[in-house]
Amino acid sequence: MARHREAVCRLCRREGQKLFLKGLRCFTEKCAIEKRNFVPGQHGQARKAKMVGYGVQLREKQKVKRTYGLLERQFRNYFEKAEREKGPTGSNLMVMLERRLDNVIYRTGIAGSRAQARQLVLHGHIRIKGKKVNIPSYLVNVGDDIELKSNMHENAMVLEARNLAKTQGVAPWLDIDPANFKAKVVAMPRREDVQTPPMNEQLIVELYSK
Ligand code: SF4
Repeated sequence: MARHREAVCRLCRREGQKLFLKGLRCFTEKCAIEKRNFVPGQHGQARKAKMVGYGVQLREKQKVKRTYGLLERQFRNYFEKAEREKGPTGSNLMVMLERRLDNVIYRTGIAGSRAQARQLVLHGHIRIKGKKVNIPSYLVNVGDDIELKSNMHENAMVLEARNLAKTQGVAPWLDIDPANFKAKVVAMPRREDVQTPPMNEQLIVELYSK
């Protein structure tokens, strides 16, 4: 699957806030936002003009897209699907992104970031109802039992992620068993359950409605 290849901390600096793309590092003083919170590039520190209208909407879309590690076409597809569903498009979009398997693996604390989660999924380390699922965009459903393959339970990256997750909030729609690297989807996530950096999806709806 195509993905961003540039240094991810630049993405946070471009948005001017932490997007939590690098696991443990995001919670330390090594975080680039802690050290130099200005737009990357030669004239980054000079770019302080207040944005309005289109600029604000565009940045909001980029923020959500980058948080979930998606490229433009993939993100647009989610938006179009969200539009076709019942209910507010913005909420539908956020809920759909939250249901992605790579995001769920991140939320369960099996991986420290969505990028790590995607790697675990792509390498075939994740089982749903006992069957291998190696598609990061798989949308989980109520009743799905998700687990990490047992030969990965001592993996250093996975153990670090589990420790990090102890300090984070718990997704109420997941029943998580950290000791066994398992989780069950017990409800569909609601918009208010989506724990991301602050995001205003209505701005994305306005952007794509132009
Ligand atoms: Fe880098 Fe994480 Fe800090 Fe973002 S939040 S700048 S990804 S360390």
